[in-house]
Amino acid sequence: MAAETASSVVTVHALNAGHLTLPERFFVTPLINPEERQTVPSLSFLIQHRAPSGTLTRLIFDLGIRRRPQQYNAKIRKHIESRYPLSGNPDVVASLAQGNLTPSDIDCVIFSHVHWDHVGMPCDFPQAQFIVGHGSMALLDGSDALNNGSHNHFESDLLPLNRTLELRPPDEGIGTHQKALIPGIRCISNSSWKPFGPLPHTIDVFSDESVLLVDAPGHLPGHINLLCRVSLEPTRYVYLGGDACHDRRILTGEKDIAQWSDPDFPGRICCIHTGRGKSRETIKRIRNLEQESLGFGKVEVVLAHDVHWADKATRDGRFFPGCL
Ligand SMILES: [Zn+2]
Repeated sequence: MAAETASSVVTVHALNAGHLTLPERFFVTPLINPEERQTVPSLSFLIQHRAPSGTLTRLIFDLGIRRRPQQYNAKIRKHIESRYPLSGNPDVVASLAQGNLTPSDIDCVIFSHVHWDHVGMPCDFPQAQFIVGHGSMALLDGSDALNNGSHNHFESDLLPLNRTLELRPPDEGIGTHQKALIPGIRCISNSSWKPFGPLPHTIDVFSDESVLLVDAPGHLPGHINLLCRVSLEPTRYVYLGGDACHDRRILTGEKDIAQWSDPDFPGRICCIHTGRGKSRETIKRIRNLEQESLGFGKVEVVLAHDVHWADKATRDGRFFPGCL
């Protein structure tokens, strides 16, 4: 690490971005009561980076649930009937306003993945650059049609193509094309995925190790996480895990990832993750980070739907304008 970049940290702020209700049998196993349901948040995060030049760059990681759920397409609306109680209120825009920011203050929106409960309303951010993991665009345009559950429906017109960067596949090394990125973010479309500590595939967003995009395969093609350094002495990171898993008990090893039979197609086994095996590998990696087993410094892992984390963070004032 170059000495002049060693002090680079970011601030990370939780944003309320709606809530939904998860039937637990689709997520965790074993269960004592298969009818158990849990209302959980769909968290978003604001990340603020100040460059040595003084340039301030603001990223948002995920946009949560749409404030008007009736604006999802018909297939998604049908699916979310199983997720009520559900609300997109307050949404990311209202949560930013808590700290006197508006969508025009946001330079870049990064999606952990393109499931409906993470994509909010991109049209609220008319100036922002969007970044998605590799495989996301094929899901959106329908060329990669998944058939492992009713949660996998997408909208082809979700993102503005002239402001969207799809990352290159981690196994492909150096990326090439794509649009010029916003000031303050170097041209990550030309970046190689590189190992960082125990993480095999990361991209250093600001070239100062303050924010790393992390390939986190398993949940959905293009699923990415974010590792943010929030303090140097002592070294402290926040790891935004998206939907790597939906329940902290899976991260701790108390529970496993559920599967179920598709009621419309007898014999078809469904899972909330596209690749259960890859998900297990990703979860293991995250668990190792959190347990400091690799001398990585202290890492706080935050999952998008962790209601217990969110309740405590609310009490501790970690939602914007508070920070993690
Ligand atoms: Zn989700």
